[in-house]
Amino acid sequence: MLVRLIYASRVASSVTRADVDAILACSQRNNARVGVTGALCFTGTMFLQCLEGGRQAVNEVYHRIAGDPRHRDPALLSFEEIVAREFGDWAMGYVGHTPDNRALFLKYCPHAEFDPYAMSAASVRALLAELLGVAQWRGK
Ligand code: FAD
Repeated sequence: MLVRLIYASRVASSVTRADVDAILACSQRNNARVGVTGALCFTGTMFLQCLEGGRQAVNEVYHRIAGDPRHRDPALLSFEEIVAREFGDWAMGYVGHTPDNRALFLKYCPHAEFDPYAMSAASVRALLAELLGVAQWRGK
């Protein structure tokens, strides 16, 4: 059975761009091994991540991530069974928050600053679907 899990978290204050690169490299390596795909959005202060794959594999990866001190306040925004993957090409795709896509991040958000904690599951899913189409992806 395939599931999709989406969560948000706050970036720990000590985290640098190099830490995000290390997280991505590690995610791509580990996720490919267990058939998990997805995307990681990083805005500088927030992470928004989508994980897709088998239910057990996604649960295991999420529980490992949730205890990572490089972020805090992880909150599940959506967990659902899915028929097919949206991010099947990406062991972990990356999308940064840039001046070009700022409007897209705010399109689904009720606040003036991007705040995934305030978004509905449907809005978060719609944002990720749009980001998949237009964002700059790194590290296939
Ligand atoms: P290692 O190979 O031991 O470490 C990988 C890299 O991370 C190394 O550079 C290491 O120095 C560094 N690192 C590891 N743990 C810490 C730590 N506690 N503090 C600081 N640096 C550390 N892992 C996945 O497998 N898949 C994911 O999709 C994924 N997404 C993540 C998203 C976010 C927002 C965060 C914060 C972490 C994510 N991780 C992910 C990392 C996860 O939390 C674990 O660190 C990782 O899975 C451990 O795997 P490993 O033993 O192979 O890592």
